[in-house]
Amino acid sequence: MKNTFSISHLLRKNIQQIKPYSTARDEYSGVALINLDANENPFGSIDGSLYNRYPDPYQIELKKRISQIKNVTVENMFLGNGSDEGIDLLYTAFCNPGVDNVILCPPTYGMYKVSADTNDILCKEVALTEDFQLQVSKILDSIDEYTKIIWLCSPNNPTANLLRKSDIQYIVENSNCLVVIDEAYIDFASEPSWIHTLHDYSNVVVLQTFSKAWGLANIRLGMLFASQEIIAVLNKIKLPYNISGLVQEYALKVLSGNLEAKDIMVEQIIQEREKMAETLTKVNGVRKVYPSDANFLLVKIDNAHQVYLYLVDKGIIVRDRSKIALCEDSLRITIGTPQENTMLIAQLREFNTKR
Ligand SMILES: *Cc1c(COP(=O)(O)O)cnc(C)c1O
Repeated sequence: MKNTFSISHLLRKNIQQIKPYSTARDEYSGVALINLDANENPFGSIDGSLYNRYPDPYQIELKKRISQIKNVTVENMFLGNGSDEGIDLLYTAFCNPGVDNVILCPPTYGMYKVSADTNDILCKEVALTEDFQLQVSKILDSIDEYTKIIWLCSPNNPTANLLRKSDIQYIVENSNCLVVIDEAYIDFASEPSWIHTLHDYSNVVVLQTFSKAWGLANIRLGMLFASQEIIAVLNKIKLPYNISGLVQEYALKVLSGNLEAKDIMVEQIIQEREKMAETLTKVNGVRKVYPSDANFLLVKIDNAHQVYLYLVDKGIIVRDRSKIALCEDSLRITIGTPQENTMLIAQLREFNTKR
């Protein structure tokens, strides 16, 4: 380990000094005879249900279950209202508005920049190479004393590929910044997660989500894995009840059931992805289908924007990335059901015959 990472060096001063809001549930979390401490309605909810009580602010039962599934301790885990909450809290914790900066490697997920902008944090951009890999020495060269976070997304959105493991490792070992590895698509990837390296690297943060492989985008539940010190800071500054009781209960119910269902769906999506990649290559106008370790394909196609508009007109919505640097003339296509994919292919062929 060549870096000299220290979390207290990196944290904002005001965050270090913050005394967290203490919830009624913090003062007493056992099962009491009578709870008269939180100004809740004692009679119950208006429909007779028991949602009158505040939920567990730290989601312990749910975290215990996730801890078994992921093989990561509860103390190394933070749950947020989507991964997006984790992204935003990292800015709040580590980046002084108007002073600090972070490094992004575009083309990549949009939230790192949006969240930086709302927090008044400068983004230094070090573009990916033509084959969508990291420019390692350029990234390390652009670190200055105000650089707090390096955002890496692997598999990357919208390019669909895994970033080279040795590149990520080199950056982690040779910088004193926080290195966030966003693994929203890791379940579809051919390489293992970074969550098992948390004990080796105190500057690594891993983001995962229930929104993609788990099929739970609607409930808004994201996971952040990091050192106990980092997790403790996030717990201190998060909104007190960031995950509603409904979501905690529902997620716990889903995760107590048959987890094989997820593996089966992931397998099906991967199979369908490979099939689609092959079929798309043969469609007129398709110039390249990039390799994918995710649940979508980036496709370089003649007249990408016209194709996009044509598909919209037919009621099929894909993501037009054709104006983004390195993704010129490209569409990002999520893998759908076999039937949906067949319809997409049919319309792409139709577009060609109409020209
Ligand atoms: C979809 C996606 C997420 C998930 O965000 P949630 O807020 O958890 O739904 C995170 N990162 C990337 C790169 C994504 O594409």
